[in-house]
Amino acid sequence: MLLRDRVLLRTLLNAAGRLRCKTAPRNRSTERVTVCRYLNNAAAVANISADFELAWAWREWGTARAEEVGLRERANVPVILGLLDDLDIPITWATVGHLFLESCADHNGGPSHPGMPRPPINRRWEGDWYKHDPGTSAVKHPAWYCPDLIRSIQQAKAAHEIGSHSFSHIEFSRECSNETLVAAEILECQRSMGRFGIQPRTLVYPFNIMGHQYLPILARHGFTVVRHRDPRFVMSCPERDSSGVYKIYESMGLHESRRYHQPTKASILIELAVLNGLCFHFWFHPSAVTGAACATIREILQHLASRRDKGEVWVATMKDLVAYSEARERMRIRSATAGRVESLRIECPIDGERFGDPEVTLCVLSSHAPLSITATASNRPEQPATLSFRFDAGSGLTTFNVRSSTSDVEITWPIARRSESEGSRGRL
Ligand SMILES: [Zn+2]
Ligand SMILES: [Zn+2]
Repeated sequence: MLLRDRVLLRTLLNAAGRLRCKTAPRNRSTERVTVCRYLNNAAAVANISADFELAWAWREWGTARAEEVGLRERANVPVILGLLDDLDIPITWATVGHLFLESCADHNGGPSHPGMPRPPINRRWEGDWYKHDPGTSAVKHPAWYCPDLIRSIQQAKAAHEIGSHSFSHIEFSRECSNETLVAAEILECQRSMGRFGIQPRTLVYPFNIMGHQYLPILARHGFTVVRHRDPRFVMSCPERDSSGVYKIYESMGLHESRRYHQPTKASILIELAVLNGLCFHFWFHPSAVTGAACATIREILQHLASRRDKGEVWVATMKDLVAYSEARERMRIRSATAGRVESLRIECPIDGERFGDPEVTLCVLSSHAPLSITATASNRPEQPATLSFRFDAGSGLTTFNVRSSTSDVEITWPIARRSESEGSRGRL
């Protein structure tokens, strides 16, 4: 009998130390402008990652069992995509690089991928690292390649992210990896994913073995975020490493529990995220989404979608969340008012190559709704654009989104505001 009582489950999880969270950073604000913690001023953010690997993750069980799991995953992916489309939930697919290949029969009968370095130690099986790789094609051995499924992820209605789970599902531990191996795995991922127009920004470490010693290499290759497992904390805001790569804390994974109802646990964690301004991160193996687990994931996603629809939770992919975090931290704003027009001068020096040009939500406080808000981008100074905004009479907050490339914003108020000169008081 599964425990479903919310209060009791929360008490038990709390007593077991499984609701411990880090503290969210304070909102960044001046007297006039607040840079919201999350897009559209949502109280919390949620993201979801799928470790997408077909047979590659299960090779230590032998080829037959690994292929069985791989084929089950194949069957499950379209079902999961349908569910995510129904609820309009984008997720991050952390995908093994080999799955992008149509075939890999270029090794003249020898071991597959002769140009790829092998792990210095393999604790999982005897023989070559690639010995299970059939060295054929997606048609002959569909548990080892799936360009067809990659295309269906790209064509889904929900705007999914496709990230990396290494090329051959290596272990990032200090014993089983080195810089040469990691760099080669990343480059091979970039090559295979590049054919689909994808530049990976997210890495999920295989086997959930943290390889943070390689973050500087990941940063050099354009990665911006990794999934982080920390037994002490279930939630945090994304944390920026000194390398410039963010860590997103895993909150819970999909696994059958014979003791408690997983969606109830998810709703407790999501509530905690909303109350504390944190990031709830849920992850799963697509191969596990069968039977009862399918109902479990559906219930968790439906709950998330309902809180998103109320405006409480921003559901974002990993790369979009950290792009937002980077822009939010880097944004500097000076405000000045002349009559009815309030001008914001914005600087946001982020690495556009890696983070893109994310939207960031700003709030200003006033007793009236603005008449209009226009924004000018630093790269298109001659083309100001009219922004949509939301005014909440109760709180007096006007909320609107700017791109990180925005250099100037003009807010026209219905009546003249008290003049405020540029200076440190108005600077964020
Ligand atoms: Zn291969
Ligand atoms: Zn994996």
